[in-house]
Amino acid sequence: MSSSNPYRLPRSVSPHAYTLALEPDLAAATFTGHAVIDAIVNEPVAEIVLNAAELDVAAVRVDGHDAEFSTDEEQQRLTIHHAHHGGGAVIEIDFTGTLNDKLRGWYRSTYTDADGNRQVIATSQMQATDCRRAFPCFDEPDFKATFDITLIVEPGLLAVSNGPEVERSVEGAKEVVRFGRTMPMSTYLVALVVGKLDATEPVMVDRLGGGSIPLRIVHVPGKGHLTQFGLDAGAFALGWFQQYYGIPYPTDKCDMVALPDFAAGAMENLGCITYRETLLLADPAEATQAELQNLGDVISHELAHMWFGDLVTMRWWNGIWLNEAFATFMEVACCDAFRPDWRRWASFSLERSAAFEVDSLASTRAVEFPVEAPEDCEGMFDVLTYEKGGSLLRMLEQYLGEERFRAGVSHYLRVHEYGNTETGDLWDAIEEANPDTPVRRLMDSWIWQAGYPLVSAALQGSELVLRQQRFGFDETSDATLFVIPLHLSVDGVASKVLLDGDDVRIGLPSADSVVVVNAGGHGFLRVTYDRALRSRLLGAGSEALSTIDRYNLVDDAWQEVVAGRMAAADFVDFVDGFADERDLAVWQAIVGGLRGVWRLAGGNGGADAVVGARVRRLVRPVVESIGWSPAPGEDDLTRKLRGLLVAALGTIGADAEVVEQARAWIDGDEPELVAAATTVVAANGTDEDYERFVLAFRNAATPQIERRYLFALADFPAAGQMARTIELAFGETVRSQDAPFLLNRAIANRDHGAAAWREVRRRWQEANDRFPTNTIGRMVEPVKLLTDPAVTADVHSFFAEHPIPQAAKSLEQTLERQRVNAALFAREHDGLGERLGQL
Ligand SMILES: [Zn+2]
Repeated sequence: MSSSNPYRLPRSVSPHAYTLALEPDLAAATFTGHAVIDAIVNEPVAEIVLNAAELDVAAVRVDGHDAEFSTDEEQQRLTIHHAHHGGGAVIEIDFTGTLNDKLRGWYRSTYTDADGNRQVIATSQMQATDCRRAFPCFDEPDFKATFDITLIVEPGLLAVSNGPEVERSVEGAKEVVRFGRTMPMSTYLVALVVGKLDATEPVMVDRLGGGSIPLRIVHVPGKGHLTQFGLDAGAFALGWFQQYYGIPYPTDKCDMVALPDFAAGAMENLGCITYRETLLLADPAEATQAELQNLGDVISHELAHMWFGDLVTMRWWNGIWLNEAFATFMEVACCDAFRPDWRRWASFSLERSAAFEVDSLASTRAVEFPVEAPEDCEGMFDVLTYEKGGSLLRMLEQYLGEERFRAGVSHYLRVHEYGNTETGDLWDAIEEANPDTPVRRLMDSWIWQAGYPLVSAALQGSELVLRQQRFGFDETSDATLFVIPLHLSVDGVASKVLLDGDDVRIGLPSADSVVVVNAGGHGFLRVTYDRALRSRLLGAGSEALSTIDRYNLVDDAWQEVVAGRMAAADFVDFVDGFADERDLAVWQAIVGGLRGVWRLAGGNGGADAVVGARVRRLVRPVVESIGWSPAPGEDDLTRKLRGLLVAALGTIGADAEVVEQARAWIDGDEPELVAAATTVVAANGTDEDYERFVLAFRNAATPQIERRYLFALADFPAAGQMARTIELAFGETVRSQDAPFLLNRAIANRDHGAAAWREVRRRWQEANDRFPTNTIGRMVEPVKLLTDPAVTADVHSFFAEHPIPQAAKSLEQTLERQRVNAALFAREHDGLGERLGQL
C-alpha cells in the first residue's frame, strides 16, 4: 500500500509488541502515558509514521536517541523524523490526553453511588479508529502486536484490561497494576477500564484440552445481585463455542464489564468485553423473555468474536460486515442451544424481515463494498451487515448441513489463527471442506449484489417451474440473478435444488402434489405461488408448514400490502384465517401487520374504530384460550405470547377492559404482563400516570425496568406529555446513550410523531453535539413512518441541507421508505373503515 493513501500507514514499519504504562486522573479527566513500541523496519526509511489523535506528545526516542517529531490532527498522524536503516527499532513516546465525554477512545463514564456521590469511570471504546486517542499506535487491524499493559491508579480502584492482572504494587500514593501479555491482536481490541467497580467471584469454565478460564462480571457497586444470569449465559457460551470451533478459548481470562455509559451495545475487546448495563445485568424474576434473550444474544455474540474477529481478524474495514454477520449468526445458534425452549431460530425470522425491509428498496446496498476511509465502514454497522449477513450465513449453513458448515468454519479459523483475512478466505475454507458445492460463487452472488430474489413457483402439467427475479416495491426489470440454494418439500418429502440461472424445472410425482418452496424458511428470499399451488398449500393445513413457513406467509402478505399488490383490508381478512394459530413468531408477524393497518387509520376516527373492533374480534379468543394469567409451569413463549396479545388489545385494539385491567397488572409480579401493561397504561395514560412513570424510571431496580419506563414516556397520548418527553431527552436525567432512542420512539408515535420530529429538527445541532455520532441516523429512522405530505416534504428538504455523513446510506434508505409508506397511506387511508367494515 502506497503511503500516498491518506488513510493507510506505510507498510515500511510494523509493530510487534507494545509496552504501555497509563495513568488516568479521574477527577481531572486526563491521563498521562508512556508507550514503548518494538517494531521491525522492513526497509530503510527517512521517517516513521503512526497514528495519534487529540494527544499531546511530549517526547519521542528511537533506539534510545531523542527524535524530532510532528503531529497532524487532520490526518491523525504522528511523524517521527528519524531515519532508520532497517531491522529492529524501539520507539518510546511520552504523551498526555483527555478522558472525553464522547464515548470513544479512552473516555469518561459516571454514576451516582449509594451515598449520592458522583463517581467517574475511565473506560474505552477503540473500534474502529479511536485507539489512537488513548496512545500513539499503528491503528490498523492488520498491524497485530502483543500488548503489555500497566495501569497506575488511585488505591482502591479496580483496573481491568485485556490480560489477567499479574502484579499489583504500591508506588508512592498510587497502585501499579500490571497485566499479562496478550496474544498478537489488533489495536481496536485494546481495553482500559479503571474505576470504583466491583467484580464477581470468578466462575471457572473448563478450557478445551485442559485447565480453566476464570469468567467474571465487573459492575458498579450494588449491582452484584443482577449478575447470575449473565454469568450462566457466559459460562455456557464459552463452553459451547470451544466445542463448535474445536479450538480452546484463545486467551487467559474473560471479564465482562457492565458500563453506565456506552455508545454501542457491547464490544468484543479480547478478554475484556464491555457492555451496556441493560445487556449484561438483569433480575430473571423481573425480566421478560425478550429482555433476557437480549442478554443471551449479546453475550453469545461477543464471545463468538473472541475467535471470529479477535483470533482471526479482517485485513481492513471492508471486512467488518463478515465479522458482524458471523457473530450474529453464532449468537442465534448459541442462544438456541442455551435455551432450546426459546426457539431462537423461529424468532430470527423477525430479524430476517428487518433486513428484507431495507433490502427491498432501490437504495439498498451490496453487503460488501470497497472501503477506503475507515469512517466509510461506519455505514456498515447496519441491518444489512448484521441481519442480512447473518441470514445469508444461516441459508448457507442449512443448505450444506450444520456439521459440514461447522467443519468449514473450524478449518478457516485454524488456517488463519492470529492472522488477517479477506471475505473470500472464509468461502474458500468452507468450500475446501465441502468440495461438491460452489460456495464461493454462490456467496459472491449474494455479497456483491444488492437486493434479494422473489422466487415464483408455477405448475406446468406435472412440472414445477421455479423462476427468480429481484424483489422490489416498485415494478422493475432488474436483471440481477442470484445462485439460490433452495429447500423444497414435495408431498412432505424434503429435497434441495440450486436455482442457478433464470429458472429451473422439476418433475413432480403427481399433478396434484403439494409443494413448499423455501421449506423451513431459511432462505433469504420471498416466494410467490401460482393460484393452484397456493390453494393446495393453504388447504393442506398447518402440518405441511413449519412455524417459520407460516411466519413467512404472513410477512409476505404484509409486504404485498406495502408494495400495493394487496389491499390492507384483504390482509386483515387473510389473518382472520389464523384464529387457531398459537405460535409466538407467527403472531409477531400478524400483530406487526395489524399495527401497520392501525397506522393507516391514523387521523381517521371511523377507520380507527373498525381496526380496533377487528383486532379485538381476532385476538380476544386467543387470549381467552391460553388464559389471561399464566398457568402453573407454563413455558416462557406462551407467557410472551400473552404479553404480545394483551399489549395489542390495549393499544391498537382499544380494548376498554384490558386498558382498565392494565392498571392492576402493572403492579403484579408476572414480567410479561407487567411489561405489556406498561405499554398499555402509557398509550392511555393521564398526567398522573406520566408522573408515576418518570418516578419509576428514576428509581428502577433493574436496567430493564428503567428502560421500559423511560421509553414508554414516548407512547403517552397527549401533546403536552410528548413535549415533556422531548424536553426530558435533551435534559440531564437521560444518558446520552439512551436519549437518541427515546427520541426515536417519540418520532414513531402515530399521533404525535410529526410534532416530535419538529422538535428534533429544531434542536438538531444540540442533538449532534451531545449524542454519540453512531446514534444520529438511528434516532431519525422513524421519520419513514411520517406520511403526511407536508411533513414528508419538510423531512426531505431538511436532510438535503443537513446530511448525516456517518449514516448517509441509511438516511437515503429511510427517505425512500418514507416515500413508499406515503404512497401506501395515500392509497389506503380514505375509505379504510368502509372496506374493513364490509364483511
Ligand atoms: Zn459484533
